[in-house]
Amino acid sequence: MIFDTIVAKATADGISALNIIRVSGDESFAKVNEIFKGSNIIKAKSHTVHYGHIHNQGEIIDEVMVSIFKSPKTFTTEDIVEITCHGGNFIANEIIKLLISHGVRLAEKGEFTKRAYLNSRIDLTEAESIMDMVNAKSKNQLKIANEQLRGNVKNLIENLQNIILDIIANIEVNIDYPEYDDIEELTTKKITPKINELLSKINKIIEESETGQIIRDGIKTAIVGKPNVGKSSLLNSLLKEEKAIVTDISGTTRDLIEAELNLNGVILKLVDTAGIRSTKDIIERIGINKSKKAILDADLILLVLNQSEKLTDLDKELLDLTLDKERILIGNKMDLGNKLDLKDESVINISAINSQGLDQLANKVKELFVNEKILKNNTAILSNIRHIGKLQEVKRALEDAKKAALDNLPIDFVEIDLRKAWANLGEITGQSTSEDLIDNLFSKFCLGK
Ligand code: GDP
Repeated sequence: MIFDTIVAKATADGISALNIIRVSGDESFAKVNEIFKGSNIIKAKSHTVHYGHIHNQGEIIDEVMVSIFKSPKTFTTEDIVEITCHGGNFIANEIIKLLISHGVRLAEKGEFTKRAYLNSRIDLTEAESIMDMVNAKSKNQLKIANEQLRGNVKNLIENLQNIILDIIANIEVNIDYPEYDDIEELTTKKITPKINELLSKINKIIEESETGQIIRDGIKTAIVGKPNVGKSSLLNSLLKEEKAIVTDISGTTRDLIEAELNLNGVILKLVDTAGIRSTKDIIERIGINKSKKAILDADLILLVLNQSEKLTDLDKELLDLTLDKERILIGNKMDLGNKLDLKDESVINISAINSQGLDQLANKVKELFVNEKILKNNTAILSNIRHIGKLQEVKRALEDAKKAALDNLPIDFVEIDLRKAWANLGEITGQSTSEDLIDNLFSKFCLGK
């Protein structure tokens, strides 16, 4: 495909030593050459770096290094020039403005990666993995994104598509060359086990994707507990910095404080909630209502109790309120003794102010949410909610196909469902995807990606 030539800063805004400005498209060498004093980059070899100056009609703007990459072995498969200039927004903006005045267009968000996809250099899953890599905050996140970038997810999906094609081919052959009268019955007998086998494969992938999704998106976690049990202290010692206000006065954590933390490789998206209790104080009530909402929204509740006293009515109320949620009971202030009278449920004993027991807490979170074996296997893990959602649709279509076959419906009906499953898989890799989805997806990228 031929597109116009685009430019954007590939590095983040702010003061830094260097910036990189990326230009992609047919005219990128010619356009940069017009503003570059140094060697003639049009004649230069691909994948080389050139020293020189960017100038505006003779007036020097910056001393730069220019890297050139000739089509097709480039990120977008188009001619690409990367100008490495000095840091700070001003210089980079001057160079970008200059290129625009020479007829280059400012890129949209994610447009470089979109071109790589539209030019078939990468599929959608690989494009999405680039964003995941940039956003990664833990080793496991990076590992999953890296594997996806290497094409693991693409291969997995294409593999499933091939199995479906094989089943469809089986049906087609039998329709075209019916050797028996009871052809439909025979076909059903042959293909039902194949659909079953495929379904069990897909079920396993969906099951394993739970770990993938947790690693990619983190666990939405609410820390709840009555005032003064040590919620803020826990949050602080987990974050190892003073982000939440810690104080002796009950109910000071009035607004929700959100923070993300990497707990031994698992990201917790923490919402520090105000102490839950009945109160007449309006400001505090806002906090409390939010806490109840946080309990509803959260995937994990860390319910903090005070180890050094017996359970109070408020504790019991919170235990009831969180009964149906995935929760971990935390007995804080273990340094002050053990008076908790909780039966039938395990409690992780900690001392928030002394940072004791936090490893046990981390292990418990892992035990509840992460299947370590899956992470260690080098098989592809689905982690992106879009992929997982599509795979659920594939599963439904296959179940429909199976039902149609078992109900002895005309074999065409079975084939329609199989084709639907195949197309849904294609939407994961972007083989059969609407323009809207593509625009929407790439707009989530940052500028210059
Ligand atoms: P919150 O209202 O639940 O957020 O409670 P805070 O984190 O503000 O803590 C209330 C009080 O308990 C503060 O004085 C903390 O220093 C104290 N505290 C918190 N954790 C511990 C602990 O593990 N041991 C002891 N002895 N005191 C603690």
